[in-house]
Amino acid sequence: MKTYPLLTITIFVAIVFSACSDDLLSIDEQPINQELTLKSIYTIPADSLSMGEMESLLFMVEEEKIARDIYLQLYAIWGQRAFNNISASEQQHMDAVQILLDRYSITIPNSIGEIGVFQNNGLQALHDELLSKGKLSLIEAIKVGALIEEVDIKDLQEVLDITIDNEDITYVYNNLIKGSENHLRAYVNQLSKLGVEYEPQVLEPEQYQTIINQ
Ligand code: ZN
Ligand code: ZN
Repeated sequence: MKTYPLLTITIFVAIVFSACSDDLLSIDEQPINQELTLKSIYTIPADSLSMGEMESLLFMVEEEKIARDIYLQLYAIWGQRAFNNISASEQQHMDAVQILLDRYSITIPNSIGEIGVFQNNGLQALHDELLSKGKLSLIEAIKVGALIEEVDIKDLQEVLDITIDNEDITYVYNNLIKGSENHLRAYVNQLSKLGVEYEPQVLEPEQYQTIINQ
């Protein structure tokens, strides 16, 4: 297992798991879990990586990239501050998955730095479809944001239930879910301020309600 300077680890963990300070995200101002923020990924031993886990890491880094890229582009169109703030959080989610990719010596897709370009064809198509929807109106754009967060939560949970067994990946994915739940609440809150009640499109109504009521 590689060792890294403690300072780098501390800064990384603080960035990834701290709450966004913007007032639009004030619903969840507190760090996700104080105890977990003190624990670093690197304190968890790396384990042997299954094919499914490898595929999942490559998929998830690009799924987080969809969120980052769409929010950046929607911010450029609509100037809604939430998109800018949440895109910064998605960059941190990508960074967390990239640390795992690096740890298991998996090559990061070349297109990772290019906005709107994806290695996975399905994710490329999803990105393109969501972006064109988000261009229609500000309300549609925020709904796209909420949908992205729903998809993220569902995909992370499914892969945690079925594929992931390594403790470091589980740790990161569970924290990504908590981040997505914060983002979903922020978007739903934005819609509500615009007089729109968001209906879940992917999650079961009961699970959605539990997240929203937190
Ligand atoms: Zn995310
Ligand atoms: Zn998110």
